[in-house]
Amino acid sequence: MRIGHGYDVHRIVPGRRLVLCGVEIPWEGKGLLGHSDADVAAHALMDAILGAAALGDIGHMFPDNDPRYEGADSMELLKAVCARAARAGYRFGNCDITILAQAPKLKPHILNMRKRLADVMGTEIGRISVKATTEEGLGFTGAGEGIAAHAVVLLEERARITRL
Ligand code: MG
Repeated sequence: MRIGHGYDVHRIVPGRRLVLCGVEIPWEGKGLLGHSDADVAAHALMDAILGAAALGDIGHMFPDNDPRYEGADSMELLKAVCARAARAGYRFGNCDITILAQAPKLKPHILNMRKRLADVMGTEIGRISVKATTEEGLGFTGAGEGIAAHAVVLLEERARITRL
């Protein structure tokens, strides 16, 4: 078994969509700023998968100065990351994602997020955990300046890893 961790932050701005784990969440015309769709939770998850496989990070795989990824759907990037890990000999075990946001309320969307990730990753919902918490008004998430996400992932080695 191999463990990986991912962390990401995006700034909250007016006039952008809020997309978390591939689910669009209506939020008073506010969303997250980024080169792609700024799905901060999906980005943390991808970095955790790549970290577990020791395959670098998403900044390396999808450079943010590459126009191909402007406005990119992070679910398409996640599919590519899963395929990359599978080609390198890893099978997905499970993930646990924590989203740090003062607002909006994410609880009503958690099940949809889990379903969407399970569908995109071709796995069972029981292997996908998504949680959300506030930081009690403290720090940049508490001040509503940004949303952060952590993710941990376990991968299983299908066979002896022969190439890196
Ligand atoms: Mg990001």
